[in-house]
Amino acid sequence: MKEVSPSGAIHGLGGAPAPVGAVSSAPLASAPLSSAPLSASPAPTAVPAGPFDKAATPVWLAHNTGAVADAIREAGSARVALRVRAGGGWLDAGRPVTNATHVLDVGALRGIVEYTPGDLTLTARAGTTLAEIDDATRPHGQWLPLDPHGAPADTLGATLATASCGPLGASLGLPRDLALGVEFVDGRGTVVRGGGRVVKNVAGFDLVRLTVGAWGTLGVITEATVRLRARPDHCATLAVEAPGDQHALARLLRALREGPLTPIATELLDATLSAALGATAGDADAVVIRLVGNATSVAAQRRHVMSLARTVELPDTVWDALRRVLPAGAASVRVSHRPERLAVLWHDLATRTRDIPGCLRHATVERGVARCAVPAGHAEALTEVLPALVSSWRVVGEVLAPSAWSVLQPAGSDRLSRGVRAAFDELHLLNPGLMDATT
Ligand SMILES: Cc1cc2nc3c(=O)[nH]c(=O)nc-3n(C[C@H](O)[C@H](O)[C@H](O)COP(=O)(O)OP(=O)(O)OC[C@H]3O[C@@H](n4cnc5c(N)ncnc54)[C@H](O)[C@@H]3O)c2cc1C
Repeated sequence: MKEVSPSGAIHGLGGAPAPVGAVSSAPLASAPLSSAPLSASPAPTAVPAGPFDKAATPVWLAHNTGAVADAIREAGSARVALRVRAGGGWLDAGRPVTNATHVLDVGALRGIVEYTPGDLTLTARAGTTLAEIDDATRPHGQWLPLDPHGAPADTLGATLATASCGPLGASLGLPRDLALGVEFVDGRGTVVRGGGRVVKNVAGFDLVRLTVGAWGTLGVITEATVRLRARPDHCATLAVEAPGDQHALARLLRALREGPLTPIATELLDATLSAALGATAGDADAVVIRLVGNATSVAAQRRHVMSLARTVELPDTVWDALRRVLPAGAASVRVSHRPERLAVLWHDLATRTRDIPGCLRHATVERGVARCAVPAGHAEALTEVLPALVSSWRVVGEVLAPSAWSVLQPAGSDRLSRGVRAAFDELHLLNPGLMDATT
């Protein structure tokens, strides 16, 4: 592993320059780091395709923004592509990164830079974990309401880069809504800042919304400022048994959406997940609802929910359990449509996937987004149902067997996206393949 020091210099470089695009465990180049922009290079050409071998890949460890910039410039000079990594917990997600020969590890870029409770804003380095942010904000009665599936050790930078969110996203904000500012390093090694550290910002080209969800293909996020929320005074989590009949389910979901309720999360769980989380005793699906407000408001909402169907009260910890319930290495897709169509979608998804062993399904009711995850050994079975799902619904792949990706339209394949990619990472040095149509 090579270290990039706080001063920004990469130690231990030596030996001959690696051939363009080749897999090499040898050091990158003997030349000293250049601060010249890549555009000064004679003829920029994208790094050609080749395999990405996680086990054999050399790792560059960056400790600060300058070091990230130096590493990217160095990679540009040597024409080697980089696999960006933080905690490394979800590197199999997204289209395979096909031709990166080196890992750029930004997990060591850690720490809260600025926290102003009075402004409900926090700035942290990209490798700071969501758990660290939770620990810092809890004593002030605040939180960053991002609850993506995965572990508390997930990093802020990766959560924003992948636009990962959980059940809270529908009411308290998606990653794009909660990110106020980002600092990132683009494919030329230039440090770029978008947005700011305050809630109100000047209008302009919104680099923050562009970077969030770009999976590191436009730049490596090094720091981010996020909007916090006040933690609710009172919470209650209720599970309502969901009818198996599609029309009855549609009526229940409508009643929950349109009733006198202000839940911060409403999640539909299949029978297996419901039983695992204690939401139902038997063989039924369930809707789990997280109510917040003052004591009077929560009590009134609870009464209303109980009037709709059989209900059990659950501990609030069920929401953390839901984040971790999926098996490691699971293959998964998101399937979505308008929220009013969720009962139809849910029924179709259940019918098509019910024979896949270990298949788990859940859906965020307010967003109309369902998710289906299968154990790693059954990824091919998920691949088989994809064409039928794609023909009726919007499908986003998360982790899939390599052959399955050809069924889905790549997120960055349109002309505009390709143009944006070219503007930020002309050589395709950063996570190549992940959002590309051609690799
Ligand atoms: C619906 C959904 C379900 C999910 N399910 C799971 C799950 O079951 N298990 C799980 O572990 N995670 C899951 N995630 C992802 C998870 O919430 C986090 O996004 C991820 O785990 C972050 O952890 P990490 O630091 O280990 O990231 P890594 O695994 O290191 O990186 C994840 C991706 O983000 C990129 N990236 C990382 N840091 C940066 C940066 N600073 N700048 C630019 N790009 C960067 C990487 O290149 C990589 O492509 C899910 C996300 C979604 C949206």
